[in-house]
Amino acid sequence: MTRSAPVPAGSRHTTPDVDADAAPGTEPLLDVLVVGAGITGIYQLYAAREAGFRTRLVEAGSGVGGTWYWNRYPGARFDSESYSYGYLFSKDLFDDWVWQDHFAAQPETERYLNHVVDRFDLRRHMRFDARVTAAVFDEPSGTWTVTLGSDGSLVRARFLVAATGVLSVPYTPDVPGRERFGGVQHHTGRWPSDPVDFRGKRVAVVGTSSSGVQVVPAILDEVNRAVEPVMREARGLQPRFQRLLPCARLAGASGFVAAGDGVPRAPVEHWVSWRPPAAKPRR
Ligand SMILES: Cc1cc2nc3c(=O)[nH]c(=O)nc-3n(C[C@H](O)[C@H](O)[C@H](O)COP(=O)(O)OP(=O)(O)OC[C@H]3O[C@@H](n4cnc5c(N)ncnc54)[C@H](O)[C@@H]3O)c2cc1C
Repeated sequence: MTRSAPVPAGSRHTTPDVDADAAPGTEPLLDVLVVGAGITGIYQLYAAREAGFRTRLVEAGSGVGGTWYWNRYPGARFDSESYSYGYLFSKDLFDDWVWQDHFAAQPETERYLNHVVDRFDLRRHMRFDARVTAAVFDEPSGTWTVTLGSDGSLVRARFLVAATGVLSVPYTPDVPGRERFGGVQHHTGRWPSDPVDFRGKRVAVVGTSSSGVQVVPAILDEVNRAVEPVMREARGLQPRFQRLLPCARLAGASGFVAAGDGVPRAPVEHWVSWRPPAAKPRR
């Protein structure tokens, strides 16, 4: 991977700058307010600015990445091919970035999204730790007035783009007595950035879908007693076939390399054995 210097705003954008740190109430009326700094919101901000709109993005979290900012639990990893996630709006960006893993781990995807933001000098149009708590549309003036919960400041915009994701609100199971549990509790979707020390702990993992099956093997070596996955229903899993990418893109090639291209692969890592879902009884 090579990192390019951020592109000076003046050379790419014609939009008047919007100061993300402007004092509340002093900002000019925006054309577009984008909510959410995940992969969708980043592109919305980019595209709206490219189109010449006065645009700003606000994000509840403290950094870029959306899903890949919040879900930083051990083992968090893409389960689609990494390169299927790369933006295709810029050939330079495409050429800039070489994915390391076939199924990128969370840090790699988070790095990629930060790279995009810096590559196109978008960060200065973003405001972090700014959760939208209300949005009211005024018909006569055709403007949205949006309240940011962090400081109660108001932002006005002609268009409001909710790039807030479909999986950005964590679900905590309503288990009676959970609030009285004396141990440490974490949610994969709100994992702390400081490492969690599992040594010597007995760990229960609730949920055995993508996140659950990723976190269990990742902490297994550290936990010296037991990890007890708690599942409501059986899951069917298949091997990840993870490998380091010898070249996700061949040097100099402009397209993707399809599977079965004869490129030698690193050994396949089998980490969960395949167990077919129970067959449904025939009527
Ligand atoms: C653990 C996990 C693994 C996944 N793996 C894959 C995968 O392998 N392949 C795949 O294609 N997809 C995967 N997904 C789906 C993933 O969510 C999408 O691919 C994509 O990241 C969604 O991007 P987004 O920008 O639309 O939303 P998000 O990434 O969810 O970003 C939304 C952002 O909006 C912010 N926000 C929400 N409400 C507010 C508010 N009121 N005010 C301010 N900010 C707000 C949130 O803080 C968040 O940062 C996975 C999801 C999860 C949770």
